[in-house]
Amino acid sequence: MTTPEFQLAFLNKIQRLFAEGDFSASYKYALLIAIADIAVESGRDDDQPLVIPHRSLGAKFVDLYWQQSAPFKNDALLIQNNGTQAAVISHIAHFRGQSNATTANAARSATDFKSLLTRVTRIVVDKPVFHIQNLGGTRDQFLFESGADSITLLPGVAYCLRRFQPLVQQLARSHWIDHIKRNKQNASLLGQDTDLESFLFETSRQSLAIVQTGLRKISNRCFYCGRSVSEVDVDHFIPHSLYPRDLVHNFVLADPGCNRSKSDTLAAKQHLSKWLDFAQTNADNLAQIGHEAGIVADERSMHSVARWGYGNAVASGAQGWIRSAQYEPIEGDYLELWR
Ligand SMILES: [Zn+2]
Repeated sequence: MTTPEFQLAFLNKIQRLFAEGDFSASYKYALLIAIADIAVESGRDDDQPLVIPHRSLGAKFVDLYWQQSAPFKNDALLIQNNGTQAAVISHIAHFRGQSNATTANAARSATDFKSLLTRVTRIVVDKPVFHIQNLGGTRDQFLFESGADSITLLPGVAYCLRRFQPLVQQLARSHWIDHIKRNKQNASLLGQDTDLESFLFETSRQSLAIVQTGLRKISNRCFYCGRSVSEVDVDHFIPHSLYPRDLVHNFVLADPGCNRSKSDTLAAKQHLSKWLDFAQTNADNLAQIGHEAGIVADERSMHSVARWGYGNAVASGAQGWIRSAQYEPIEGDYLELWR
């Protein structure tokens, strides 16, 4: 296990990276988010090195930048580089124009996707992978070593990224938003628009509506209290604040009361057990809903994310939400549900 001193030093480095790193494009934020996501989705919980193929990073970049490569307003794209547009955005925007794919999910089965992935991967390797460990003008290799076709996260790094995932995500996102706002080329586009964060990072309302319709077909009841309701919200089973990447298996329907009350907490064991059954029983339906809504359906990653979330909760002594104002401690027996 990594020592508290190691973890503190890691957080200090991350802080320095944002303060002193050279960010002419938004790529380094994307790279941090990508490796933090991969660390969680790997399903591991040790402090060993983690090998990440370059193409896996490229694929994450396509996912992250896909929705940002759509016009923000009046056919114009947000500029994500000082100077000319960030090449990843240009490549994806071009690909979107040529293919009929409207979602990153659909794009993966398009004929030219492989060459898009190759182009994006090359940029990721040449730019952020090469530069991210330059802090204050000197090289400080604290995240990974570079190989011919992969990077290897150093011992303890994947562990820390998992441990501090919400913090790393939040830092990277808020700096990313600032980066776009500070770029004078975007001034006229942005105006007083305050919805930049949802444009950049959140699943569109349109996709959520498709998820809602799909889930209603499976069951029209609140997932948590079982009441049949006319008005339902789409709830993130693993809270969005904990893990902001949307995977279709993470959506359940909840009546507004349960949704509000559960808020950013993890659900109690009875709900977790039901959710695991639900994901298994409805695997085909969920894959179909993901396909229609353009949201990734990756059951294995979802399990890794959920185990990670509950594992952290056990370690930190968090409470699980049962129903309005009722909680129970999340204990080790929760994790046995996966055995
Ligand atoms: Zn309910």
